[in-house]
Amino acid sequence: MLTSIKNYHRFREIWRESINFLVDVADCTSGLVTYIDGTDLEVFAASDRKMNPFPEGVKVAMQGHYCEETYKTRKLLHVPNALMSDRWEDCPEIKCGLISYIGLPVRMPDGAIFGTICLLDKKENFHQSTQQNGLKQIRSLIEAHLQVETLTRMDSAQHQENPELLQLYRTIARNSDKDMINIPVCSHCKKFRTESGNWVQLSPSIYQMVGPRSSHGICPDCLETFYPDLVRS
Ligand SMILES: [Zn+2]
Repeated sequence: MLTSIKNYHRFREIWRESINFLVDVADCTSGLVTYIDGTDLEVFAASDRKMNPFPEGVKVAMQGHYCEETYKTRKLLHVPNALMSDRWEDCPEIKCGLISYIGLPVRMPDGAIFGTICLLDKKENFHQSTQQNGLKQIRSLIEAHLQVETLTRMDSAQHQENPELLQLYRTIARNSDKDMINIPVCSHCKKFRTESGNWVQLSPSIYQMVGPRSSHGICPDCLETFYPDLVRS
């Protein structure tokens, strides 16, 4: 699903600002958003504290980095002090003095891994739960942006010739990071209602992304099938 990292450049500044904020709150050396490019790990957005040794655009081969483990296990990795752990004492980041790490995988809407978001520190760092929650919140923001980008791209690729569907996809894309989305979805068949009042079936992945947060209703076909008495009366 990840066609080109260029599609995401418009989000880089806001991701960087969020990471800067988190680095200040967590009082650590460096914060990164990386993306996985085949067998390489690329720094996509980086905190701009001068201490950060990994500027944006730097690419490293996967050779035992902390983020690699986060990517492979698809789980939170927290290493408060790598020097105290046999598993991490030879990790490449230690050469830069970065002995502490906390990172989460960042997912595309289809579940594939975009990359990671992480904080690195030159001192032991146990990252209290508020900092861990901050990291999760910023990951949610990034994943919402990835959803918007994916939906926008899908609509322009597949629905150029159908203005009604294009309009529906645009509304979904515009609202995809909101808690509630004001688009009626049929509770039975999961069709979405377009602005002109037609009910259309979108791909199951779109329904998974936004359906549960949409306003539920019932389409005329399902009304007739499931509540025939209501239709006749
Ligand atoms: Zn229906």
